[in-house]
Amino acid sequence: MDDPVANNPFKHMPVKDLLSDDHFMREALREARKAFDDDEVPVGAVVVCEGHVIARAHNLTERLNDVTAHAEMQAITAAANHLGGKYLDQCSLYVTLEPCAMCAGALHWAQVGRLIYGADDEKRGFTKYSDHLLHPRTKVKKGVGSQASAQLLKDFFGSKRPARG
Ligand SMILES: [Zn+2]
Repeated sequence: MDDPVANNPFKHMPVKDLLSDDHFMREALREARKAFDDDEVPVGAVVVCEGHVIARAHNLTERLNDVTAHAEMQAITAAANHLGGKYLDQCSLYVTLEPCAMCAGALHWAQVGRLIYGADDEKRGFTKYSDHLLHPRTKVKKGVGSQASAQLLKDFFGSKRPARG
């Protein structure tokens, strides 16, 4: 008789890491909403290691007056601080919007194990440039929570447009 557990090709990975992409993306969306409330472009990220969120971050480019303060950059730094090591190969990074080329480069340096992102960024997303910006061992899943993420960005830029003329 087939044993469904023995036949699971991902049996070496904790089950909650595999079944919880929607759950952890909701955590990233919560971060994006914090950014929205602070008048920052609403992008949020969390880093998950062994089923636990070890870092949460959102875009801080306005507050820090720093164009590099994207959610992923903040999350990578916070996760490395938490782990006491610079590599995130055992971690999954969830981000509500497709990373830009800069963040994809940073994720390469961090050797992140999995990247899960929500909405595509047709203007600035890294896949517009190259799929090889990430580390070759990084596994990618896209489109998780993409609708909620895209709606939040739409609401944000929609609310900005009249004010900026
Ligand atoms: Zn970025």
